[in-house]
Amino acid sequence: MITGASSGIGEAAARLFAAEGAAVLLMARREDVLKQLAQEINDLGGRAAISAGDVSVAQDVQRAVDETGEHFGALDTAFNNAGFAGDDLSPLHELDQALFDRTMAVNVSGTWNCLRSQIPVMLEAGKGAIVNTSSTAAMGATGAPVPYVAAKHAVLGMTRAAAAEYAAHGIRINTLVVGTTRTEMIDQVVEAYPELGTAFVARQMQKRMADPVEIAQAALWLCSDRASFATGSALAVDGGWTAG
Ligand code: NDP
Repeated sequence: MITGASSGIGEAAARLFAAEGAAVLLMARREDVLKQLAQEINDLGGRAAISAGDVSVAQDVQRAVDETGEHFGALDTAFNNAGFAGDDLSPLHELDQALFDRTMAVNVSGTWNCLRSQIPVMLEAGKGAIVNTSSTAAMGATGAPVPYVAAKHAVLGMTRAAAAEYAAHGIRINTLVVGTTRTEMIDQVVEAYPELGTAFVARQMQKRMADPVEIAQAALWLCSDRASFATGSALAVDGGWTAG
């Protein structure tokens, strides 16, 4: 199950996971985009199904988890990747309350809803692997809006605490500390604040933005049995940002 699969990192993960043999359940709000992507994956011999919905709505997430089981018979792994940052970089006291609410709803409640629906299925199976997408913004002030920085810290905290609770049950839970990646989300910000794109790149040792598939590769590894001793980790895929 991949959330935020209609664009950017989630879309790259959908294509990559499917190419590696996984059956993928794609979730995001834009149904038409998901349908097209699933069609492309299935045309290439992969196995993809969709469940359009909003991760901030618990019932939508539960439906996606149920549909994963209905389509594929199991939920082995989940990439909880849907996120929202907004493109208003006003200081905290000038931000709309609505921006805070939406940022928390998508990133924090969204991840929470996913964990709450996915873990019971994995407990029953006695195994599972979950990867939540956080950010360099989980490590400190990056220049992203304060609600986003707070939300990604929360995703990191949830990952660690949940990993501790379920390690003994065979469920691994990790997070990706993602650096600046060329996606719709970053395009929006850079369009509004071109100087920020330059500043973000400058803070990464590799002096470029990631291609979404470079993040998807790390998610694939963490979701796979090859990462059998990785849990509770915050894996930086950030071009060296957090090491600098
Ligand atoms: P995109 O904007 O390309 O993708 C975001 C995805 O999330 C879309 O598929 C969108 O689909 C989905 N989404 C947004 N809101 C909801 C919602 N309420 N319910 C369900 N799906 C939703 O950005 P990225 O690929 O860059 O973002 C993926 C993740 O990576 C996010 O968690 C982001 O915070 C994180 N990240 C990105 C960085 C970057 O530089 N790009 C850096 C660090 C972290 P739809 O609109 O169809 O619902």
